[in-house]
Amino acid sequence: MAFVCENISVNEEGVLTFAGQSTEELARQYGTPLYLMDEDRIRQNCRTYVNAFSEHFPEGSMPLFAGKACCFKQIYRIISSENMGCDVVSSGEIFTASEAGMDMEKAFFHGNNKTDADIKFAMDRGVGYFVADNEEEILAIEAEAAARGIVQKVLLRITPGIDPHTYEAVSTGKVDSKFGQAIATGQAEEITALTLRQEHVELAGFHCHVGSQVFAEDVFERASDVMLEFIADMNAKFGYMAGCLNLGGGYGVRYVDSDPYLYIAEKIGSVAGAIKRKCESLDIPVPVICMEPGRSIVADAGMTLYTAGSVKKIPGYKNYVSVDGGMTDNPRYALYKSSYSCYNASRMNEEADMEVTIGGRCCESGDLIQLDVPMPSSTERGDIIAVCTTGAYNYSMSSNYNRIPRPAVVMLKSGSSYVAVRRETFEDVAAQDI
Ligand SMILES: *Cc1c(COP(=O)(O)O)cnc(C)c1O
Repeated sequence: MAFVCENISVNEEGVLTFAGQSTEELARQYGTPLYLMDEDRIRQNCRTYVNAFSEHFPEGSMPLFAGKACCFKQIYRIISSENMGCDVVSSGEIFTASEAGMDMEKAFFHGNNKTDADIKFAMDRGVGYFVADNEEEILAIEAEAAARGIVQKVLLRITPGIDPHTYEAVSTGKVDSKFGQAIATGQAEEITALTLRQEHVELAGFHCHVGSQVFAEDVFERASDVMLEFIADMNAKFGYMAGCLNLGGGYGVRYVDSDPYLYIAEKIGSVAGAIKRKCESLDIPVPVICMEPGRSIVADAGMTLYTAGSVKKIPGYKNYVSVDGGMTDNPRYALYKSSYSCYNASRMNEEADMEVTIGGRCCESGDLIQLDVPMPSSTERGDIIAVCTTGAYNYSMSSNYNRIPRPAVVMLKSGSSYVAVRRETFEDVAAQDI
């Protein structure tokens, strides 16, 4: 049997394994619902980026982990020990990263609406780079940096007008994004001019982010083409040569068998080739390159375990297996109809002869994890249900809807396991209530 990722298998007892460990035993030891994270896989994914970067890009180039994909302290310890930087999008993420001991000089602070309090907090914690979104923000950063007598490094978020899924050269859908300043409207040039006039803001370069779950051949080549032309243009107009180009995140991962394989090391090699050729033709030096992978670092390092409750067969209609979690720990089906590979982890040797809808336990008809999942008709209350590839945008998007405590996050490492985030208690859920 082939699985979406090679860290998934089946043992002699017919039980699904993750990172070589029995899902039934892990469920027994830690309880369900449960997030599992394969630490070795996270490290392997980090190394793919770090090695490709040192092979192909100028010195100082660095992959940054996009914390919004999966944010808790242990993740930052892992990615910083793998020599990655990070991208943070809120004061809460800055707090988590810096409390975990992350070198904040390697942190890039995003967001289209940083509050004054965020700007102060980020400077308090020594965030290396702000990725500024708009003119008001540049002025607010300038004012705060001036008050502190410091010079704050910034990148400007630019909208290159590239749609990663449609191949249109300039798509209005992208130019009218809530993020960044568009090249097409002249606003990217205006914010560059404004930034260069500030005394306490140092323009370190430019940033763009074109999308997520990207598989298309040449999205990063097209984005870097447009951005390098912009860099050359700013050099011609203002005599300003950007030192850094940050291409954002977005490489896709396999959720189901029909998703293509993506060889990220090769992809980065060809992006680097395109960048070098473009810089030669524009006669500019190759800038330091950053990328911000989130999903492709953590998604396939995650699996969620549930315990089946009721198995409801509605003759002539459909079958439901209800689980002891749902949209509170994984809102992605409810939000985006996301695909997942799901299994009855307890019965991998039995024929999957019925199709079920996996339903969560929340009071919402839309609280579903997946439709049309093949499962043995012997499936019953107490079986362990596994949902694969849940390492990204699951824990980080979880909620306490219906006052359901969040599951624990357990890390699997070289045959052993440890708790990285404790399971919430009812006391935790009600902790702020007066
Ligand atoms: C979401 C996001 C990322 C990470 O995207 P992935 O698809 O998880 O790799 C990186 N940079 C920015 C600015 C983002 O908004």
